[in-house]
Amino acid sequence: MTHSQHDESLQGTATLVDKPIHSDIQLRKLYIESYGCAMNFADSEIVASILTKNGFETVKEFEKADVIFVNTCSIRDNAETRVRKRLTDFRQLKRTNPSLIVGVLGCMAERLKSQFLEEEQLVDIVVGPDAYRDLPNLIETVEGGQKAVNVILSKEETYADISPVRLDTNGVCAFVSITRGCDNMCAFCVVPFTRGRERSREPQTIVNEARDLFLRGYREVTLLGQNVNSYLWTGGGLKKDNPSKEELENATTFAQLLDMVAKVSPLLRVRYSTSHPKDMQNDVLEVMAKYPNICKYIHLPVQSGSSTMLDKMNRGYTREWYLERVAAIKHYMPNCEMSTDIITGFCGETDEDHAQTVSLMKESGFIMSYMFKYSERPKTLAERKFKDDVPEEIKAKRLQEVIDLQHELSHQRNIKDIGKTFEVLVESVSKRSADFYSGRNTHNKVVIFPKGNYKKGDYVHVTITECSSATLKGVLANE
Ligand code: SAM
Ligand code: SF4
Repeated sequence: MTHSQHDESLQGTATLVDKPIHSDIQLRKLYIESYGCAMNFADSEIVASILTKNGFETVKEFEKADVIFVNTCSIRDNAETRVRKRLTDFRQLKRTNPSLIVGVLGCMAERLKSQFLEEEQLVDIVVGPDAYRDLPNLIETVEGGQKAVNVILSKEETYADISPVRLDTNGVCAFVSITRGCDNMCAFCVVPFTRGRERSREPQTIVNEARDLFLRGYREVTLLGQNVNSYLWTGGGLKKDNPSKEELENATTFAQLLDMVAKVSPLLRVRYSTSHPKDMQNDVLEVMAKYPNICKYIHLPVQSGSSTMLDKMNRGYTREWYLERVAAIKHYMPNCEMSTDIITGFCGETDEDHAQTVSLMKESGFIMSYMFKYSERPKTLAERKFKDDVPEEIKAKRLQEVIDLQHELSHQRNIKDIGKTFEVLVESVSKRSADFYSGRNTHNKVVIFPKGNYKKGDYVHVTITECSSATLKGVLANE
């Protein structure tokens, strides 16, 4: 698995685990497909962990499954359309295999609840992101001839004690969830409704998971949450608006957590995603600067370069604040690179607002961006308060403009890397050629290089000789 928060090439990827060794009983076959952000992929690993302890093994082909789960995304309308289309494939299969169980997990399940069962007749189970522990019971209910729904959102659930089985991975990089839910209420965003309130996970369980991964040969962890910078452990439960003085004294902040995870081993790379600009404080930058094994790369979604839009989006910062944070990042770590998320055509966005986004992109010099057209989502603040009034073709035109600009910025930036030597973690054999490896440098850029005598999980020095806008290619240094 790679490390972007929303990697197109991974959408719909099947989740696979090794057969448990202990079992001589007939295991039932589970197929899980995941859509959306990295949190969903990480959640599928929790689901697989729960079910492999309950008589299941995972399979790669859905045709062989007794139970099919689709872990869904609601972030934009087209994410939901894609899942609906996929369900029609499973409908075919159910005709020939009536005992097949089909379940919908994640954000779409939470958003639509039992309405899903009415709209999609073939679906047997609907489960929200906080109810995965209940899956064995829900499957039993369906086997008893009923449909099953659990969309209760929790104030405590962090799955802290569940050690996720690592699915379909390269054995080198893993995700570790550190928070669940989100309290931010950005006007465009459905996440607070589908994933509930923000909770932080007990720090020691995070460190233990990272250490365990390292001992099993993993060399990179990405700490995951909707807004990792607001991580705050004060003993469990919902994030308190006003923690007491005593609670704060004993609390663990994100900067402290990062410090703890970085100490697991100098050979374990640490990344995190996603940061919210309003919570990006200097203490985190100080810790990042202190440890060479914390990668010098920050994904800091700006959404828009216009303060008017940012205010309407309820993002809690201005253009000036954002640019000041970019300057602070460069101050603490001159070698740090950044990427971002951008939405074009949010309610009331003018040509001038859009021009501000374009100029902010140039000024910040992002090496990569995830760029989207605004898609109105039910129940959100924007849906209730504002008109989705930017015509589709303008949204699309502005989107194309930022995509073209980012392409150009990435390419220009990559050209500057030619001749430089980077430390690269070997992740997998290159998809294009069996004689090359693929890995990433500290800036999260994909680097392709000859295999030499190296193996997955090794650190290699690569001198860059060529580039495209998406990847760097190089030769082994000193060889
Ligand atoms: N929590 C992260 C954050 O605040 O940046 C990520 C949230 S979301 C999973 C990833 C991205 O999807 C957002 O940063 C935003 O750019 C985009 N997004 C969210 N809601 C959207 C909507 N209604 N229409 C278009 N893009 C949206
Ligand atoms: Fe959505 Fe904003 Fe929370 Fe990100 S921070 S998940 S965009 S509400």
